[in-house]
Amino acid sequence: MQEQIRNVAIIAHVDHGKTTLVDRLLYQSGMFRNEELDRLAGGQHGLIFDSNPLERERGITILAKNCAIEVDRNETRYRINIIDTPGHADFGGEVERVLSMADGALLLVDAFDGPMPQTRFVLQKALEHNLRPMLLVNKTDRTDGRPAQVVDEVFDLLVSLEADDDVLDFPVFFCSGRDGWCMEQVDGKRFDLQRIFDAIIEHVPSPQVQHDAPLQLRVSTLDHSEYIGRIAIGRIAAGTISTNEEIQVLSPSSEPRRARVQEVHLFEGLGRKKVQQAKAGDICAVVGIEGIDIGDTIACKQQPSALPAILVDEPTLHMTFRVNDGPFVGRDGKYVTSRQLKERLEQELERNVALRVEQGERPEEFLVSGRGLMHLGILLEN
Ligand code: GDP
Repeated sequence: MQEQIRNVAIIAHVDHGKTTLVDRLLYQSGMFRNEELDRLAGGQHGLIFDSNPLERERGITILAKNCAIEVDRNETRYRINIIDTPGHADFGGEVERVLSMADGALLLVDAFDGPMPQTRFVLQKALEHNLRPMLLVNKTDRTDGRPAQVVDEVFDLLVSLEADDDVLDFPVFFCSGRDGWCMEQVDGKRFDLQRIFDAIIEHVPSPQVQHDAPLQLRVSTLDHSEYIGRIAIGRIAAGTISTNEEIQVLSPSSEPRRARVQEVHLFEGLGRKKVQQAKAGDICAVVGIEGIDIGDTIACKQQPSALPAILVDEPTLHMTFRVNDGPFVGRDGKYVTSRQLKERLEQELERNVALRVEQGERPEEFLVSGRGLMHLGILLEN
């Protein structure tokens, strides 16, 4: 069977039903039975995509994550990588990075609420990356919904963002992620969510990559495992990457260096699977490259060439973090020394690209800069 790839970002405001829909899509693809979904979600069916406990509690997506679904159509196997995007401008750093892996976008909007102000920011970034969104008016089962008006509002929003005619001619589905159906017209015939896969295959272009060229992979996200250390995630822009391959790391901030790939993983459902090789267009996780960073290019050893770094909007809010020297010191808290504070901030810097940490005026003081209240608020709570 021939193989093809589709990389699609999902853009949604909090509570518009993204998690529920993604779970349904996984279920529909037959990759999971319900019990397995339940197990993965820790017995809490319906909340798998958002896995950080604070995300669950607040219902917001902070860390961008990927999942992959395989669908067979006409002798072709399509790997659909669904890339989660944070729905808030404060996480702009993440938004830009993850959008750079996608070739299309699913814009999910509640049939009652319509597009929300924060959606504008992410949508604008998506248009800057030349992604053509596909609209899913979700929760169409709601009796108080106003799906037709919501389509008009999205159209007006795109016009205000100066989208071109091609973008304005976006495909629309009216769906209920919860109940697992979709329609092409309001009050039209109901289909199962296989229709959404068909639409992704039709409307999202296959990745513009070079298959027969030296390896290039720009790291867009980092993950970390206690056992295997740093995991670099990104889309392969050219060539292939294999287990045990010797590669060159090209970093905007340091000298090129050699390293060896220990493992290559592809996304599968909500998990990952080890593979011998991954090819251009696919989003993969690379294990074993110490000190690799966001924005670095993993390149071919013989003909190394870097991809342009991803620009991230600069921080706008600054706070000073310092060790408690007030009258209540020692009464509460576990990690209270400046060394612990420093370690925690360094750990955060591993993944949180829009964050900056500088030494403050005194040794126990740190100047922390972020994208806004939400960005720093989540860090504080975590
Ligand atoms: P997220 O924050 O976008 O991931 O949203 P969730 O998937 O967590 O859903 C938010 C809320 O909307 C939950 O209470 C869901 O039960 C509800 N919900 C999700 N999908 C649907 C739907 O298709 N129809 C209706 N009526 N409610 C839904």
